[in-house]
Amino acid sequence: MLLTNNLGYPRVGAFRELKKANESYWAKKISAEELLNVAAEIRKGNWKTQKDAGIDLIPSNDFSFYDQVLDFTLTVGAIPARYNSLLNKIDRKYNLDLYFALARGFQEDGVDVTAQEMTKWFDTNYHYLVPEFTKNQEFKLTSEKFLNEYNEAKGLGIETKPVVLGPITYLLLGKEKEEGFNRIDLIDKLIPVYEEILGKLAAAGAKYIQIDEPFLALDIDEKTKSLYASVFEKLKAAANGTKLIVATYFEALRDNEDTALNLPVDVLHLDLVRGENHLDTVLAKVPASLTLSLGVVEGRNIWKNDYEKSLGLIKKAVDALGKDRVWVAPSSSLLHVPFDLDNEDNEESLPAEVKNWLAFAKQKLAEVKDLAILAEGEVDAKTAERFEANKQAAESRRTSPLIHKPEVKERTANITDDDATRTSKFASRKEAQKAKFGLPDFATTTIGSFPQTKDVRKWRADLKKGAITQEQYDKEIAEETERTIRLQEQLDIDVLVHGEFERNDMVEYFGEQLAGYAFTKNGWVQSYGSRCVKPPIIFGDVYRPSDMTVRWSAYAQSLTGRPVKGMLTGPVTILQWSFVRNDQPRSTTTYQIALAILDEVQALEKAGIKIIQIDEPAIREGLPLRKADQKDYLNWAVRSFRVSSSNVDDDTQIHTHMCYSEFNDIIEDIAAMDADVITIETSRSQMELLDAFAADFKYPNDIGPGVYDIHSPRVPSTEEMVDLLRKAKAVVPAEQLWVNPDCGLKTRAWPETKAALESMVEAAKILRAEA
Ligand code: GLN
Ligand code: ZN
Repeated sequence: MLLTNNLGYPRVGAFRELKKANESYWAKKISAEELLNVAAEIRKGNWKTQKDAGIDLIPSNDFSFYDQVLDFTLTVGAIPARYNSLLNKIDRKYNLDLYFALARGFQEDGVDVTAQEMTKWFDTNYHYLVPEFTKNQEFKLTSEKFLNEYNEAKGLGIETKPVVLGPITYLLLGKEKEEGFNRIDLIDKLIPVYEEILGKLAAAGAKYIQIDEPFLALDIDEKTKSLYASVFEKLKAAANGTKLIVATYFEALRDNEDTALNLPVDVLHLDLVRGENHLDTVLAKVPASLTLSLGVVEGRNIWKNDYEKSLGLIKKAVDALGKDRVWVAPSSSLLHVPFDLDNEDNEESLPAEVKNWLAFAKQKLAEVKDLAILAEGEVDAKTAERFEANKQAAESRRTSPLIHKPEVKERTANITDDDATRTSKFASRKEAQKAKFGLPDFATTTIGSFPQTKDVRKWRADLKKGAITQEQYDKEIAEETERTIRLQEQLDIDVLVHGEFERNDMVEYFGEQLAGYAFTKNGWVQSYGSRCVKPPIIFGDVYRPSDMTVRWSAYAQSLTGRPVKGMLTGPVTILQWSFVRNDQPRSTTTYQIALAILDEVQALEKAGIKIIQIDEPAIREGLPLRKADQKDYLNWAVRSFRVSSSNVDDDTQIHTHMCYSEFNDIIEDIAAMDADVITIETSRSQMELLDAFAADFKYPNDIGPGVYDIHSPRVPSTEEMVDLLRKAKAVVPAEQLWVNPDCGLKTRAWPETKAALESMVEAAKILRAEA
């Protein structure tokens, strides 16, 4: 009998109940007990949903108030010393406040402790809290969440499979906070805690335990690789007969295949969506004692599964191993997809035909079950019907005129190197632009957005609700834009922006105007803690039916004699922050978006906007997990940007912007984008990030290193910014430097914005005078 296995379930609730409860608790509006109740209800609902869907191996301990890595930090007692001062200050009844202090920092009654650092969970948009390790790090079992949740489910009559973050992955996810040791060497100290965890779960009656080791599917060094066998020998002994499942995901095993297949465990889970081609080589080597859990239903995207394709894989495995040794599963935890498609009913933003191509978490459970039944062969009438419907949906996706636009495909297929290359080299463009704009060295500008005040958000909400007319809304936006232009003139900024008041979000705004996009009402996915995002869905060939930004940019330009920058989001960032179609390569979709952005760039040019910024903050985060795949990605990502920005006049100045990221290893690719100006976030690193631009490889075009951090309301002094600019000047020639904040000013208030920009312009003038 083929068993069905689920790795993890979304936990914010179908309508973000946990987000709301967490935030109320933080605001001291509800008690700890009330928060715990909301959490228990969510867990109960999730378990029941999975049970009803016929899932055999239902996860527990996949719930988290904030983050599953943080949960483990508390479980193994890796609590950094700076939190010690809190231990007797806060309510420790349920450990909740200590937990949230690690997640969010703690500022109260004169106590001020910073949060743990946050970073991306592999190549997803989910962020985890980075464990911090010291040389003499000790570990100690300090939370029994894993056991409590297992018992809680049991009390509800549901047998679950506790999920444990694997010890090697846990260490690799963390960071050394002092010199002189390698965190992986802490493994011997950590293992005893894991032995305790497994022992307790075994004693409580757990039949299976899932140990997540996603690093087994990544590039790891030989030393780490060789640790896996010995670590799992110990875990196996501690599990005392309880069966162990090792879960890998987000990549194929590749060079770690032998290591993973020979672990002394009972079940190995494989991501067959990302690693589809590797089933053959795996099957040839599976030892007789091992069961495979096949991750055939994509846990990271929202498309209906292609049953015929998945059945092909499952049958191949069944032929090799027999039904008892093959499980059916989603590729990864379902944390990364929205809750339930049944909660979507907005025909306008999500047409029924498109909806019929989608599956959210709940629907994916049904798919897993269907596939198990179909592969088993004893098919009831209902499953047969669903199989038929699945085939029809797949066929409709292959042929629907909603998706397929021959003109777009043809235009994309015919992109030439010429389309991705500017007419002249940077040096002569720079001359032409100098003649056109006459800007000084240390030219000042901002990144695009100005404060999105309550008023601005209210106009947008009122327009949506129908409480104000389009004319009223436009009038408000026009007035706010004009005020912002006047302010920038007054501040004596050189290159102005219109302020982006008409935009809710830098991707959604474009998605709403591009063809090929759909939107959900409740398609929330956890990004970090209580923050959720609702990624738009790219379902079809993307093109630009009409102008997207020309109106407000041209209006702003009409108000002033100074140049106003047009403001666009780049193709890679639009791709990266959306759910992307899986029926063509990501690169093809990106090129389609690039052509749509190019059309907008040219429309702006025609309207007299000759400085155009194309934001690409997500270039870095799109990097594939495996080194071997990165070059290919960088090639098409850079080329897409160039397609969106090359077919312009020499004296049209293209800017790009990227937020905080390490540029060292990709600086040549960033340079290959060939933007005339790049603005980057550098102030938080005291210009250290600039070193990448001035190392052996010298970045050739203009650079605007951010001179102040926009994430805090703090107003920096002129001197601080002068200091930073002098540091910048020491590594980058003055003629190449621009002066700007780190990022957009959207989240700031007006008073601090004015004060900071005033000092910034002053700093630029001081530097000019020094030259
Ligand atoms: N132009 C955008 C803004 O200023 C850029 C935002 C970003 O880099 N994330 O808001
Ligand atoms: Zn930014």
